[in-house]
Amino acid sequence: MKQAYLIYIFFGPPGSGKGTQSNFLGKKLGLPVISTGELLRYEESIKSPLGLKARRYVKHGQLVPDKLIHQIIAGRLRKRDAAKGFILDGYPRDAKQLDDLLKLIQDKYTPWLIEVKVSDREVVNRISGRRVCNNCGASYHLVYNPPKKGGLCDVCGHKLSIREDDKPAVVRKRLADYKDSADPLLAYGKKQKRLISINGEQSIAKVRQDIFKAIDKIK
Ligand code: AMP
Repeated sequence: MKQAYLIYIFFGPPGSGKGTQSNFLGKKLGLPVISTGELLRYEESIKSPLGLKARRYVKHGQLVPDKLIHQIIAGRLRKRDAAKGFILDGYPRDAKQLDDLLKLIQDKYTPWLIEVKVSDREVVNRISGRRVCNNCGASYHLVYNPPKKGGLCDVCGHKLSIREDDKPAVVRKRLADYKDSADPLLAYGKKQKRLISINGEQSIAKVRQDIFKAIDKIK
């Protein structure tokens, strides 16, 4: 039987570091990292019709309607670099999106779920220091992962900014939503015996090491 390619779905609360970790894994495995949050921010920055439609949801920390997300993901997965597997960050976010994804990939890909666990208190702590580059998508933390030159992106030199949806009231809403949405992903991963749960409250390097170790066991 032809073996399905593996895909990796990262999930965890906002600020859990799943964006950073998914990029480490992407480099290790030579797979593209597909982040719906980043794709949406890009669409917004070029003021595409899709970006403009999504903007009001993203700004208030609300989920963008499934139809728009599906459109953006389906388009991205058609690109050549995703043919032999990919890593997802921020998608699927709930039971409906998981179902949509499973239909889209059929039996061509086998999904593994990677949960990055972090407490609410730590999330609020971390997000207050988060800075992002709107030009290339790199992200930083003023304490845990500071840029080399204050306020500027190490990769492209662009000025860093605070995401609008990282403001405290919006973060609280995103946290509450996350809890509802993570349950179906956990249940699916457990049922399929393809769930990796990682303690995200460790140094970036140690979290990376734990993820790599777990991935090496399944390959
Ligand atoms: P993130 O960068 O993953 O924290 O996403 C930032 C924002 O983009 C979220 O608060 C949502 O408004 C939107 N978003 C990202 N991914 C999704 C998704 N899978 N479904 C719906 N909205 C999303």
